[in-house]
Amino acid sequence: MQSTDVQKGPGAYSRTNPFPAKVLKNVNLNGTGSKKETRHLELSLQGSDLSYLPGYALGIVPQNDPELVAALLEELKLDGDTIVTVGKEGDSLTLKDALTNHFEITLLSKKILQQAVEYSENEALRNLLLAENANQLKEYTNGRDLLDMLRDFGPWKASAQEIVSLLRKMTPRLYSIASSIAAHPDEVHLTIGAVRYTTHGRERKGVCSVQVAERIQEGDTLPVFVQINKHFHLPEAQEKDIIMVGPGTGIAPFRSFIEERAVTKATGRSWLFFGDQHAATDFLYQDELEGYQQDGVLTKIDAAFSRDSEQKVYVQHKMLENSQELFEWLEQGAYFYVCGDKTNMAKDVHNALLQIIEQEGKLSAEEAEAYLSELQKQGRYQRDVY
Ligand SMILES: Cc1cc2nc3c(=O)[nH]c(=O)nc-3n(C[C@H](O)[C@H](O)[C@H](O)COP(=O)(O)OP(=O)(O)OC[C@H]3O[C@@H](n4cnc5c(N)ncnc54)[C@H](O)[C@@H]3O)c2cc1C
Repeated sequence: MQSTDVQKGPGAYSRTNPFPAKVLKNVNLNGTGSKKETRHLELSLQGSDLSYLPGYALGIVPQNDPELVAALLEELKLDGDTIVTVGKEGDSLTLKDALTNHFEITLLSKKILQQAVEYSENEALRNLLLAENANQLKEYTNGRDLLDMLRDFGPWKASAQEIVSLLRKMTPRLYSIASSIAAHPDEVHLTIGAVRYTTHGRERKGVCSVQVAERIQEGDTLPVFVQINKHFHLPEAQEKDIIMVGPGTGIAPFRSFIEERAVTKATGRSWLFFGDQHAATDFLYQDELEGYQQDGVLTKIDAAFSRDSEQKVYVQHKMLENSQELFEWLEQGAYFYVCGDKTNMAKDVHNALLQIIEQEGKLSAEEAEAYLSELQKQGRYQRDVY
């Protein structure tokens, strides 16, 4: 890794000293009628000295939803202007500022409930914390947040300081960088899926993704830092072929890879597997990708749209449909990349890859495993999954 990749000197911008990046563009990539909202965010790095390589991530330090902060203050019957101290330095700030910027307020843990019991005389909370009710406690914290706890187990007699002492420090959210700095000097682009779901009768919103989707306008700033990822990068040799599997927001680093390869005029072939719900509304970056295909930067695109047919088709099905060719690419030295959902997609893709190697290489299951391990050892099987 070159020392110029990320600024390092004193006063450099970092996780603990994030750079206020100006928002240049913030658009929804999904069409009308889509069940999804995926934001394409462009930020300016001008004046920061920050740089990055394809495969790196950007950290954003988010702010909590002001409506949720207001609901908490109301439930607590505390004045948002009350001064509290936070952090190792003991900084003084208002309770409202602390709840907005410094703490996670959408999480609930056993630890929070155990500490909070001191500030409530609610019998139900005491019961829930009894050793014999461990399962119910686990069930209760699942999908609930601080506001649920305050509403369910009041009345509360905690001071503003006692409330903040219950909370965990806000964690920055990471996003795979979706641009090449060579293609967009002084800029960084992201692809952010808005997280919205309903549990226990309340609509819940992801802190950072919904801040970007609902409250961040062009011209605003967001505190950011560059997160190096040494384990996810383009091959150094420009003539190497690459296979990229990136459904949904998993497309992000591959937009960066493709842009970089267009600038460097890499001669290696590139094959993208993309997937989402509907072709009409969810084919992220479709025009750009098809443009790259026409220009020959992208050799092949195979897209799977799970909700357009009776039988759900995913990226792993597209891989299996193309098993012979995919195996040929691997045999000729191609690098294989996966980005996106860790829980299901990455496992299904891994299994499809094993199946292809076994079938096309006429190998046993053990030999296919060994083949894939060897690819991994050579850095030719890389994953960026979350
Ligand atoms: C290296 C890396 C790269 C990443 N790249 C990207 C990227 O390019 N694009 C992208 O969009 N994201 C990416 N992510 C994920 C991103 O960091 C955030 O986790 C995501 O945006 C959610 O953050 P949030 O603040 O909006 O939600 P949070 O407030 O953190 O809430 C998310 C949490 O809500 C809960 N939850 C979510 N859905 C449900 C449900 N249906 N039922 C119950 N609980 C639920 C889960 O506990 C989940 O962890 C990446 C993560 C990593 C680690």
